[in-house]
Amino acid sequence: MAEPTSTTLDPADWSALREQGHRMLDDMFDYLEQLRERPVWQQAPADVRAKFQAPLPREGSDIADLHRAFMNDVLPYAVGNAHPAFFGWVHGAGTPVGMLAEMLAAGLNANVGGRDQIPVEVERQVARWMAELFRFPAGASGLFVTGTSMANMIAVLVARRRTLGLEVRDAGLARMGAGLVAYTSAAAHDCIAQALDLTGIGRSALRLIPLDDQYRMDTTALEQAIAADLQAGLRPFFVAATAGTVDTAAIDPLRRVADVAHANGLWFHVDGAFGAMAMLSPDLAPLLDGIDRADSIAFDFHKWAQVPYDAGFVLVRDGELHRQTFAAAPRYLKREPRGMAGGSPWPCDFGPDLSRSFRALKTWFTLQAYGADRMGEAIAGTCALARYLAGEVGRRPAFELLAPVALNIVCFRHKVAGRVSDQDVDDFNAALVADLQEAGIAAPSLTTLKGKVAIRVAIVNHRSERRDIDALLAGLEMLAARRLAI
Ligand SMILES: *Cc1c(COP(=O)(O)O)cnc(C)c1O
Repeated sequence: MAEPTSTTLDPADWSALREQGHRMLDDMFDYLEQLRERPVWQQAPADVRAKFQAPLPREGSDIADLHRAFMNDVLPYAVGNAHPAFFGWVHGAGTPVGMLAEMLAAGLNANVGGRDQIPVEVERQVARWMAELFRFPAGASGLFVTGTSMANMIAVLVARRRTLGLEVRDAGLARMGAGLVAYTSAAAHDCIAQALDLTGIGRSALRLIPLDDQYRMDTTALEQAIAADLQAGLRPFFVAATAGTVDTAAIDPLRRVADVAHANGLWFHVDGAFGAMAMLSPDLAPLLDGIDRADSIAFDFHKWAQVPYDAGFVLVRDGELHRQTFAAAPRYLKREPRGMAGGSPWPCDFGPDLSRSFRALKTWFTLQAYGADRMGEAIAGTCALARYLAGEVGRRPAFELLAPVALNIVCFRHKVAGRVSDQDVDDFNAALVADLQEAGIAAPSLTTLKGKVAIRVAIVNHRSERRDIDALLAGLEMLAARRLAI
């Protein structure tokens, strides 16, 4: 008979692995310290891409070789959102503190679905901090999720449970959901519509309320839409305002939306994916006036709060309602007065995920290492850079601003004097952004505002400085001149 042999995946030689680990850590510190010298982005060459077609390995590899493969074939070809000249979409930059905390969390490998353990307490503490920040009452609940897309969906589910009662969890929408209607602005993120799709209410139940000239929800139009739907015998139940829209960072008039929602008995939700974190800056917080009246807020720590991906969060005013939306008690998750199965309610009682990573730790580290004030200063700093960019765009006759600058996003375009058709100007600007991305100089993205293609610069990164904005503008001018000379 064969001797039982060890099948552990731990190393035979811990000291060799320890050295290897230190080299990996040093490489990431070097990467972060020297970021600005790198191109923001470069497309992976075909031979690098081809390496990722190799079949499942039957034999193990040396971790030093894998580390080298990461340094050569993965790290240089990421999208570059840690780079100070990355201005695309709304991406957070991360911090070295967040990176270290993520390593600690991975080492501990806590499953934060529940049970009596301090990692759950860390998550609860972050939830209490957020309740404090947004002036929510003591009974509020908070939950880490992947991102705001998921957080918005959870808010829709809690609102659905409030409107239709606990019974909806068994009966379902097919029996109880007729006539439900929700509202958001025409500038809302598409994940609001997706949330209605995924929850079975359906995208066609979402009314897209028109915008005012500041790209904010027109609350008179909101009132009219609710009145018309009530008149038609429908059941308005949910309004999602946006604090920081994805196109222009516009903030819906939250206090007014709260008034209209509550006057009509609707759930008032705020999608504050990045914008809600403006609350950390005493200078910016007044712009979010009325957010404290929300029934729920969805936001990301991984955007403006710089926590490494992913770290979405949902905060719900009525924590008991939130729990009743998800809590179930299968026999294998029974709670006990003693032992590890204590400490109820658990995070898994507040959302669809049972196994959950320790996202709270990197957030807990970030908020404490920097403190709320310094985080707020970094956020306010990106808004100051946006104003600087808008000023520089205004001084250059070749460019025009396409939307007011509400926070940290600037939308503008090259006017391309001499090009007569709108299509030509749109194509030119789209090509210019692709040129700039491919040159690795800076990385804005594109959007369309009132039918015009816009160069969209979202400044989310705490590392961005004036020289990065200057490089963006110089790059655009140089590449535009090159294009116009063709
Ligand atoms: C980014 C964003 C979302 C989606 O958030 P994820 O974390 O990517 O799921 C939703 N709404 C707004 C306004 C956003 O900026």
